[in-house]
Amino acid sequence: MIHDPMIPFEATIRWIKKETRDTATYAMKIADRRIARAYRFQPGQFNMLSIPGIGEAPISISSAPEEEEILHTVRVAGDVTTQLSRLRPGDAVGMRGPFGTSWPLDEVEDRDLLIVAGGLGIAPLRSAIRRILHLARRRKTASCPTGKKFILYGAKTPKDILFRDEFPRYRSAFQVHLTVDKADPEESWKGEVGLIPTLMRHVSFNPLKSIVFLCGPEVMMQVFTKELTARGVPPEKIFVAMERNMNCGVGLCGHCLFGPVFVCKDGPIFRLSRIVDFWGVREI
Ligand SMILES: Cc1cc2nc3c(=O)[nH]c(=O)nc-3n(C[C@H](O)[C@H](O)[C@H](O)COP(=O)(O)OP(=O)(O)OC[C@H]3O[C@@H](n4cnc5c(N)ncnc54)[C@H](O)[C@@H]3O)c2cc1C
Repeated sequence: MIHDPMIPFEATIRWIKKETRDTATYAMKIADRRIARAYRFQPGQFNMLSIPGIGEAPISISSAPEEEEILHTVRVAGDVTTQLSRLRPGDAVGMRGPFGTSWPLDEVEDRDLLIVAGGLGIAPLRSAIRRILHLARRRKTASCPTGKKFILYGAKTPKDILFRDEFPRYRSAFQVHLTVDKADPEESWKGEVGLIPTLMRHVSFNPLKSIVFLCGPEVMMQVFTKELTARGVPPEKIFVAMERNMNCGVGLCGHCLFGPVFVCKDGPIFRLSRIVDFWGVREI
């Protein structure tokens, strides 16, 4: 990072794609050429996006590092995200980053890879998925995972499935299984109905030779990690993305302290074995 991590730089919105009722993807380009050239991120990292006079929010990067624009997929939640949803292509936002840990693609090797996402949790995983597709296309077999690869993704209803038009392409490298909590009467949903763990019956993998990337609501991740460890997946090979309110993004303010770790700089992606002792403990 050549830029002071506490000072936002300007990024211009190039295009916006509405994904669902409350979520859109914003393609951004860093305005300053020198900063743009030096900017490097890994799948799973996030930026702090800011709107002058409103505030700042941590948002994961949903594009792969190889792509020209930096994508953020944002659900309207409060002040910053509401204001962001009112912006148009050509408008500028403040950006600081990239921050945090990334999905450990260097540990995937010949393991079976399970990418498991609930709701908006697919956004930081999309970056990893697209990186893997990119490696597969370039036939970089040394770094491209060669084991079985699965995407298990669940959303509330078919209308809430993010990046729905992209899954057919992902099937070139992954076995993709989608589920919804509730099928929509107006939509002829032919897929699975049920919570994400129900998808596990479609998946055959070697627990001792697998690696899991997991992102979604915390309750879903806790249920799922219990199921995975019961099946024999070692906690060192399960990676979860945590979310906590944060301000600085660099481990100074302490807002995102989670037990002994900072979500902003020790996370947001943690090896389960690192947090399992205090994850789920109340008031942590
Ligand atoms: C590492 C990381 C990555 C993230 N990636 C994404 C992403 O890719 N896309 C995305 O959409 N979101 C992402 N988030 C979540 C996003 O940062 C939050 O939703 C953020 O709070 C939005 O900012 P805001 O100003 O719009 O909302 P805020 O004003 O912060 O409000 C967010 C919600 O929390 C409630 N709230 C606010 N303050 C409090 C409080 N003190 N107590 C209780 N409830 C409160 C609000 O009522 C509202 O429902 C990520 C968060 C983290 C930590």
